Amino acid sequence: MSPLQRVTVLGATGSIGRSTLDVLARHPQRYQVFALSGFTRLAELEALCLLHRPSYAVTADSASARHLQGALHSAGLTTRVLFGSDGLCEVAAHPQTDTVMAAIVGAAGLAPTLAAVTAGKRILLANKEALVMSGALFMQAVRKSGSVLLPIDSEHNAIFQCLPGDYSRGLGPVGVRRILLTASGGPFRETPLAELSAVTPGQACAHPNWSMGRKISVDSASMMNKGLELIEACWLFDARPSQVEVVIHPQSVIHSLVDYVDGSVLAQLGNPDMRTPIAHALAWPERIDSGVAALDLFKVARLDFQPPDEQRFPCLSLSRQAAEAGNSAPAMLNAANEVAVEAFLAQRIRFTDIPLLIADVLNREQTLKVESLDDVMAADQRARAAAGLWLNRYADQGM
Ligand code: NAD
Ligand code: MG
Repeated sequence: MSPLQRVTVLGATGSIGRSTLDVLARHPQRYQVFALSGFTRLAELEALCLLHRPSYAVTADSASARHLQGALHSAGLTTRVLFGSDGLCEVAAHPQTDTVMAAIVGAAGLAPTLAAVTAGKRILLANKEALVMSGALFMQAVRKSGSVLLPIDSEHNAIFQCLPGDYSRGLGPVGVRRILLTASGGPFRETPLAELSAVTPGQACAHPNWSMGRKISVDSASMMNKGLELIEACWLFDARPSQVEVVIHPQSVIHSLVDYVDGSVLAQLGNPDMRTPIAHALAWPERIDSGVAALDLFKVARLDFQPPDEQRFPCLSLSRQAAEAGNSAPAMLNAANEVAVEAFLAQRIRFTDIPLLIADVLNREQTLKVESLDDVMAADQRARAAAGLWLNRYADQGM
């Protein structure tokens, strides 16, 4: 790796993307922005390009690419603007980039993230959906290319920090009994169950501790986020679903814990700010300033824990079932959830319809073997089609 790391930020206009650029800008002697991608917020992408002067930018389609190319050239920049999935894959695997921040939301991030893995890049993985969809294939590709995979999800980054360096020997051999995955419980942790069907997208996106994109905010409110994270943890740390326990911890100060056979429990703590895991993964195995304030334990004062209520959060048990079933089940769970969240955000279905839609798709569609990326994409498409049928039957009723 060159002394100056050249970083590609996929999903630069999003919440993780912007936090990444904030950390990078604090260390111009270590990092250079190589490429930035955005999808809908073109003006924001343009402003980020003017600030960070990347070699490449990637937009959604040819019209937006032409527009951005013109604007950047008029401003005297030599940035080349590409578009679409091919453009994303090209910058992710480009020989001149060392590190790729995978921060596109949802299944759209799978192809470029895998392209970066296959090219042996250092991967900073925020896009959990990519790993959930393609788990075994993704991890095989990491092993084959020798790519360094560092988790950005705060929980997985915490677990990574609490595990010994040789954890890839297996959790048993390094003395791990359980992984304790913490969850805030989201904005509806204490909302009376009868009121859940009437909650609005605005309420669902108002997370008590974290400021995030809308999709992951809804996932946090339904606890599907924790379900996806359970599957993510199984792949990252080669754990069985039964070795991962979810713990509600409303303060979001402990980001996760590892329980060892000798009774030791190691935890990673910090203020809830994604710049900490981002800075950790960027600099690992070194440490750099992230801009996050020091944790004030006296201000935190107390830490609470409780088991999750599976009746309140059915997405959690659906995820556990998909994790146990393996093969195409996690990809179908993820796809059905993406359709459900989009329909909820568009106010076509109720919040409580999200797990109903997902359960229906998983019950209807057979779990098939996954041996290739085509198998993953076929499972994704089948689940989206089944979710579409569910919406045709039940959406817009009484909304
Ligand atoms: P966001 O909605 O704020 O940003 C998403 C980014 O993806 C944007 O740059 C958008 O332009 C891009 N994008 C969206 N659809 C696209 C498509 N079809 N093709 C190409 N680009 C597309 O989301 P976020 O909160 O930054 O989350 C990004 C990822 O990180 C998600 O997978 C999320 O689960 C994960 N993550 C986020 C947080 C957080 O605190 N925000 C924490 C842990 C993990
Ligand atoms: Mg998380």
